[in-house]
Amino acid sequence: MSKTTQSIKVTIVGGGIGGLILAIMLEAARINYIVLERSASLRTIGSTIALNACSLRLLEQLGLWPEIQKIAKPIGAFHLQHDDLSHIGSIDFTFGEKHYGYYGYVMARPDLFELLKSRIPTKKVLLHKAVVDVIENDCGVTCRCADGTEYRSDILVGADGAYSKVRERMYHHLRLQNRLPSEDDQPLKLTHLCVLGVSSALDPKVFPAVMDKFSKFELMLFRERRCSIWLSPVQGNKISWCYGGEVDQSPESPRNKGVNRRWGKVPAKTRWLLEDISELPTAYGCKVGDIINTTPKDRVSSVALEEKYFETWHTKRVVLLGDACHKVLPFAGQGAVQAMLDSLCLANLLHDLKGNTTADFEQAFQSYHQQRSRSARKAVIGSRLFGQFVVSKGYLAKWARKIALNLMPHWLTRTVTDWVMRDRPQLSFLPIIEDRGLVKAWCQRR
Ligand SMILES: Cc1cc2nc3c(=O)[nH]c(=O)nc-3n(C[C@H](O)[C@H](O)[C@H](O)COP(=O)(O)OP(=O)(O)OC[C@H]3O[C@@H](n4cnc5c(N)ncnc54)[C@H](O)[C@@H]3O)c2cc1C
Repeated sequence: MSKTTQSIKVTIVGGGIGGLILAIMLEAARINYIVLERSASLRTIGSTIALNACSLRLLEQLGLWPEIQKIAKPIGAFHLQHDDLSHIGSIDFTFGEKHYGYYGYVMARPDLFELLKSRIPTKKVLLHKAVVDVIENDCGVTCRCADGTEYRSDILVGADGAYSKVRERMYHHLRLQNRLPSEDDQPLKLTHLCVLGVSSALDPKVFPAVMDKFSKFELMLFRERRCSIWLSPVQGNKISWCYGGEVDQSPESPRNKGVNRRWGKVPAKTRWLLEDISELPTAYGCKVGDIINTTPKDRVSSVALEEKYFETWHTKRVVLLGDACHKVLPFAGQGAVQAMLDSLCLANLLHDLKGNTTADFEQAFQSYHQQRSRSARKAVIGSRLFGQFVVSKGYLAKWARKIALNLMPHWLTRTVTDWVMRDRPQLSFLPIIEDRGLVKAWCQRR
């Protein structure tokens, strides 16, 4: 470890998945840091998270692999059907372990959160610290919290999510200097609203699917509405569920009539929305209501799904990561993975810093943006396209699904997947985990 690395101090704003994973990496790199989190505790909403080989090789390097295997289930397949259970098509995912060294894994989000939390000393996470302003100069960066406290460090990382305050303050200063690209001044695009949760432990005699080694994602697409239901078994004999609908982007369109009215006030209408789908049959042989009605009421969340790729990721001493600079739709399970890959890239660059001047930090951030922006942009676009492919209505969408899920040769599907999954980088300052996949990871840029 260089003297520079020993002496720098980092403030991470936000104790979400991105902020916590960066904290674990800085802990491993022995870089001084604190996490400022606005909530009263480190917690997350109760749905699921799917992680793929791109992030699992990294989690193994951080020593988290044995615990991940305990809390997660390997993903076996993705079945797409109509709301009357008529089959549309399937994608098999069981080749993941052979090709990339890991299956995809799905886990309850709170379980992953608890695991990440357990690896960070409690004293390094300060709660009730809502950052309201960030001021940087050549000597360092100071952030001010809503309670009047101030924290000074060499650099500040904004890992504070889609509605990042750090980004807002950064962009405010850049706008005053006429240095903010016009695209970054546009708001996030709200595309979907959904209600989600994880059931209580279910009786395996009634729900045998919860005992399968593999979790099979069951997606039900409504014929008459622009809505879908997603179900996937997770550890602990539970089933995670999500009921979502597209938000009307052009309210005048007769095709969209009723969608916004239906989803416009999700929090207030959660109960009514769920009652609406409870009698529908599922591929598990039970009704949707048999699963969702076992979810404790305080664990049912309504979530707005937005997307946006931001062009500007840093100034001289302030840098963004995760949803703060690229908000990805969740359809392709990419948001948290991308936040982890951002953190990895930043941690490597901070570990290898040659000096601690403003120019050194700015150069590291430029390199970070250069290394990460392409992959993050691809994740935003890829997730949008995958979402459109899966849930869109109309003849074109119907035929695209028919061809891709039933007629496309396996080698073609795998070529596309290989291209994404070859991004399995490692931290430069920890022992490298052997690449067990047949499809080898890209050579890592430094
Ligand atoms: C329904 C759904 C399903 C998803 N499924 C998947 C999946 O299967 N796989 C996947 O990879 N991704 C998935 N994602 C995306 C993934 O959850 C996010 O991309 C990821 O959590 C982003 O992490 P983050 O740390 O950047 O932001 P966040 O998780 O939003 O964390 C931000 C943190 O910052 C805190 N904060 C905010 N403002 C301030 C402030 N001013 N001061 C201090 N703290 C602040 C917040 O309280 C929060 O703790 C899903 C998302 C949704 C909505």
